[in-house]
Amino acid sequence: MKKRIIIVGAGYAGVMTARKLAKKFNQKSEYEIILIDEHPFFTYRTSLHEVATKRIEPSAVQFDLRQLFMHQKNVKIVTAHVETVNAVQHTVQTSVGNINYDKLIWAGGVEAKVDIPGGPSMDSLFGVWIKRRHCGYTLKKSFVKERLS
Ligand SMILES: Cc1cc2nc3c(=O)[nH]c(=O)nc-3n(C[C@H](O)[C@H](O)[C@H](O)COP(=O)(O)OP(=O)(O)OC[C@H]3O[C@@H](n4cnc5c(N)ncnc54)[C@H](O)[C@@H]3O)c2cc1C
Repeated sequence: MKKRIIIVGAGYAGVMTARKLAKKFNQKSEYEIILIDEHPFFTYRTSLHEVATKRIEPSAVQFDLRQLFMHQKNVKIVTAHVETVNAVQHTVQTSVGNINYDKLIWAGGVEAKVDIPGGPSMDSLFGVWIKRRHCGYTLKKSFVKERLS
């Protein structure tokens, strides 16, 4: 049986790590790689503010993880929320069941400090989509106010 490397989090850190490990440990190696994220897609977070300001469309910042790893057959994508890690038993408990590991890489991310006041955080595509509407509305409102004054 193959040894298992689990990477939790498919942001920049998780995706880059999975790509590098997939190259290092090809299909014939003793390792298999499992990339777990609660979302089935990778989000290009550093461009989220550009969606909020209508510079680019949402489709430019989100990419399907299975497609991204289509050619890396030794990387398995699991869409699940990781609830706990049992470091003694080498198990991660997820919303779709327990998975054993030999090596664990936690790439669960950070909280972004980049933000526009009001509404949800700019951390997610959902958040920036709301911001985009909020920004458009605020700009329109101030434009009308300026024209009327
Ligand atoms: C609008 C914006 C602009 C930014 N601009 C810049 C910039 O110009 N330069 C710069 O250096 N940085 C920038 N940042 C910050 C940068 O995006 C982050 O530093 C970077 O995304 C961190 O990458 P990461 O892989 O560590 O984590 P993340 O990208 O946060 O990825 C973590 C992943 O882990 C998953 N995850 C977390 N917990 C669990 C769990 N329990 N179970 C399953 N999955 C889980 C999440 O779903 C997520 O996909 C910006 C951020 C934002 C929001």
